[in-house]
Amino acid sequence: MTGGAIRLERLVKSFDGVPAVTGIDLDIPAGQFYSLLGASGCGKTTTLRMIAGFEKPDSGRIELDGRDVVNDPPHKRPVNTVFQTYALFPFMSVWDNVAFGLKYQKTSKDETKKRVGEALDLVRMGEFANRRPVQLSGGQQQRVALARALVLRPRVLLLDEPLGALDAKLRKQLQLELRVLQREVGITFVYVTHDQEEALTMSDQIAVIADGRVEQVGPPQEIYSAPATTFVAGFLGAANIFDAEVLESSGGSAVCTALGTRLGAAAAAQPGAAAIVIRPERIFLQGPDEPISPGHNVINGVVTQVVYLGNCTQVHVDVGAATPLLVEVPNHAGPASVPHRSGARVNCVCSHDAVRVLQRSAVPVPEPAQPADVLSASS
Ligand code: ATP
Repeated sequence: MTGGAIRLERLVKSFDGVPAVTGIDLDIPAGQFYSLLGASGCGKTTTLRMIAGFEKPDSGRIELDGRDVVNDPPHKRPVNTVFQTYALFPFMSVWDNVAFGLKYQKTSKDETKKRVGEALDLVRMGEFANRRPVQLSGGQQQRVALARALVLRPRVLLLDEPLGALDAKLRKQLQLELRVLQREVGITFVYVTHDQEEALTMSDQIAVIADGRVEQVGPPQEIYSAPATTFVAGFLGAANIFDAEVLESSGGSAVCTALGTRLGAAAAAQPGAAAIVIRPERIFLQGPDEPISPGHNVINGVVTQVVYLGNCTQVHVDVGAATPLLVEVPNHAGPASVPHRSGARVNCVCSHDAVRVLQRSAVPVPEPAQPADVLSASS
């Protein structure tokens, strides 16, 4: 399958005068697994529905393989959509559900048989062909919905939070399956999600959306490790974000003051007011008397909370700012991996490379993610 490149240019859409999408520009290359990631209400679904043709933009272009499709009705676009609710026909068998769309393409009986069989095999549902949707689990129903969309051989598959209704374990399994499926069929997948872990797991590229516009586009590793804005840093995973003042910058490195101390950063930055971002897993804790390796930053503070999370322990350190510095320690030595207790003085140590200097986003930074399933906590 070739084609499936999408270009969105200055896309704008309001509902009753309230802006939903305020100027989205995106280049989605053919054959990529491309995620639109953002908080609820940021305009992801509206963007997807405009690509599908279910909503008409107020202005802007939507090009599919170089052709503007803004005035094409949905069924004239080489695009299919899979929704969070499976929307299968309840009184039809799995086979008939998948074959349904082919009737309207006037596909021959033999061809229909071949394509439905192939589509069901692709999603590993061949042996369930005679069942009705009610006799299937949620994950199986979503696989049928995928087969029903793929059987029509679209150039682009749009997926709107398709795993949202499934439990956490099944979600993780289907995330990996979807990634493999996309590689197998080779068409463009545009995947809408508010779940950063899901986007990081599956995508070739992620577009982070906030307030109806694009904050950053890039591959998962780049978006996570080199966020362009404080919003992106805060939205993807836990991040320590503090005000900073860049003092000097030369030769691809910078020196700034933040948290009452001088910090080195391995990147150029404009002198003046800024923000620093340090991922919690890039910091390690040392006792106050342990020597610091040369070329490292040190922030000293007092432990206020130690939260055991199974695979790691999250340590909250009061560093004299409004919010604590979060440090994530892998539990290599089991539950006793963190020797520091609440009230202990510690040095929080990180390399220059772990400190990113950013401009503050116009969009407020999301609240730091708090672990939802704390196994045990001591303070
Ligand atoms: P979610 O993850 O909750 O679906 P989203 O990022 O997909 O959020 P959209 O569904 O695109 O966001 O909605 C963007 C904004 O547009 C929201 O404020 C929403 O209330 C509004 N909106 C979306 N569709 C309509 C509609 N048909 N009529 C009126 N307002 C709408």
